[in-house]
Amino acid sequence: MYAELIAIGDELTSGQRLDTNTRWLAQRLEEIGVTVIFHTTVGDDLAANIAAFRAAAERAEVVVSTGGLGPTADDLTRQALAGAAGEELVPDPVVLEHIRRLFARRQRPMPERNAVQALFPRGSRPIPNPHGTAPGIALGLPRQNGPPARVFALPGVPAEMFAMWEQSVLPAVQQLPRAHTGLARCIRHHTLRCFGVGESELEAMLPDLIRRGRQPRVGITVSRATITLRITATATTPHACQQLIEPTAATIRECLGDLVFGEGEDELQDAVIRLLADARQTVSSVEYGPGGLLAHWLSRGEPEGLVYRGGWVLRDSPPTLPDSPAGLTPTPTSDGDALVAVTEQARAEFATDWCLAVGPFPPSDADRQPAGHVQLALVGPHGPQHQFLPFAGHPDVLTARTVKQVLNLLRHQLLATKRRTPYNRSCMRVMGCESSESLGRG
Ligand code: ATP
Ligand code: MG
Repeated sequence: MYAELIAIGDELTSGQRLDTNTRWLAQRLEEIGVTVIFHTTVGDDLAANIAAFRAAAERAEVVVSTGGLGPTADDLTRQALAGAAGEELVPDPVVLEHIRRLFARRQRPMPERNAVQALFPRGSRPIPNPHGTAPGIALGLPRQNGPPARVFALPGVPAEMFAMWEQSVLPAVQQLPRAHTGLARCIRHHTLRCFGVGESELEAMLPDLIRRGRQPRVGITVSRATITLRITATATTPHACQQLIEPTAATIRECLGDLVFGEGEDELQDAVIRLLADARQTVSSVEYGPGGLLAHWLSRGEPEGLVYRGGWVLRDSPPTLPDSPAGLTPTPTSDGDALVAVTEQARAEFATDWCLAVGPFPPSDADRQPAGHVQLALVGPHGPQHQFLPFAGHPDVLTARTVKQVLNLLRHQLLATKRRTPYNRSCMRVMGCESSESLGRG
C-alpha cells in the first residue's frame, strides 16, 4: 500500500518554517508497513491545493495532509478537498455545537469565522481533535485505477496532529484492506555505523548488497565522515523482518571488520568509551584546532566522568599553557615533538591511561595545493603515536572528521590490546592518511 503526504502552508513553501510533520508521519507510516512514495509541499493557494490532492489520490491509496484547517482566510484545505472531490461544503451541526461549547467553556464569544470549521465536503467525516477547535476531515477521493483514495486532512499544529494520528488515523489506516496489494505489514530497520574509509571504497568492500530491489534493502549514507549502512527488511511479522536482517548484518560485519564501530545511534566516542570502560582505563584530551569538540563529545558520551577525566582546549598563539615546556607549543608546521610533549604533560596532569591530541589547524585556504596538515597524537601505555593528516575538504566536515580520526586511532589501539595481539599497524586504517609514524618514545 502506498501513501502520499501533503504539507500545506506558505510558511513551508517560503522556507520560514521547516516541515517536520511530514517527517514524523512518514516514520509512523513506515512503521506499519505503508510505503510513502511522495511528499508534496504546497502553499496557501486553492487551485494548487486542489491539484495537489487530485494528483496524490492518483498516486497513492492513502493521502495524509497537514495544515490549512484553521478558521482564517488563508486556511483552504476544506475548500480544496471539496473542489478535488467535486462536492459542496455542508455544515455539520454536531461539530458546530462542539465548537460553540469550546468557546463557551473559555467564556469567549465564538467569532463567526469559526463556523467555517464546521463545514465539511459532502460525504466526508470529521476526525475528532481533542486538543483544538478544528476537526480533521476524512474522505474518499475518486481515482482512475481502483477504489477511492483514503484522504485524511489534519491540522498543522504538530501536537494536535500527533494526537489525531494516534486516536483516529492510525487505527483507520491499519484497518484498510491490504490483502489485494500483496504487500507486507511490517518494516524493520537496523543500522551499522562505520568509520575509516570513504563511501565508495566501503561499498566496494561489500558483495553486491546495495543493489536496488534486494531484500532486505541496504542503503548507505554519510554524515560528517561517519558512514551508516541501513538494512531495511519488509515482511509479515517483526520476527520475519529480524530473520531477514541478521544474515545481511553478519555479512557486513564480516566484510568490513573493524571499520564497523557500532550499531543503531552509536557514535565513535560511544564505541571508544565502551572499550575504555571494559578495560577499566581512562582518557584525557588536548586540542588546539577543534576548539573543544573532542572534549564535548567525550564528556557528553560519558557524563559520569569516570572514563573521560578532562582535557585542555588550547590556542596555538599565544601559548595559553603556562608551564608548557619552553619552545614546545605546536604549530601547524612544527614536527610532532611539541604536540607529543603537551599530550604527555596532559596525560600526567589528568593521571589517565591515554591522552588524545589534535594539533592546530592550518590556515584555511580551500584552493591551497597541496593542502596543509593537521597533527594527531596519542599517548598511552605503549608510548606515543603521532600522525600528520592532510587537512582538506569541506569546512563543515573537516573538524568533525579530524576529531573522529583521533578517536579512531585510540579505538584501534584498544581493539588490538583487547585481542592481546601486539599492535599491528596494518590493521589501522586512517582515511586520507599520507604518513603514519610512531615516534617510539616513552
Ligand atoms: P490552525 O487551526 O492553528 O490555524 P491549521 O490546520 O490551519 O491550524 P496551520 O495554520 O497551517 O494549521 O499551521 C498551524 C501551526 O502549525 C503553525 O505554527 C504552523 O507553522 C505549524 N505547522 C503547520 N504545518 C506544519 C508542518 N508541516 N510542520 C511543522 N509545523 C507545521
Ligand atoms: Mg491556520
